[in-house]
Amino acid sequence: MKHRYLNDVATLSLDPDKCVGCGLCADVCPHGVFDITDRKAQITDRDLCMECGACAKNCPANALAVNAGVGCAAAIINSWITGGEPSCDCSGGKDCC
Ligand code: SF4
Ligand code: SF4
Repeated sequence: MKHRYLNDVATLSLDPDKCVGCGLCADVCPHGVFDITDRKAQITDRDLCMECGACAKNCPANALAVNAGVGCAAAIINSWITGGEPSCDCSGGKDCC
């Protein structure tokens, strides 16, 4: 799946010094955000991140941080659950969900 969200807004961050190269983040990420190279995780494209939080929750080294459950992705998921229109409270524009 290669759905991109808003440009340069994802809160995902990776501390490569803490990463132990286990690959769990790449296994659980539904959008293929990570690549494991030389036993270190790398973020291939931050704009693919939907801020679900699965990578940070599963990282055994606390090397990942993401502000999960906010923004565009959360608005879309909430609209699926409630059946309403997505409302992310952003400024709108062509990139808005
Ligand atoms: S889950 Fe954490 S420790 Fe494992 S590869 Fe990913 S960032 Fe590194
Ligand atoms: S928060 Fe979710 S979509 Fe974003 S990198 Fe982590 S697992 Fe992938």
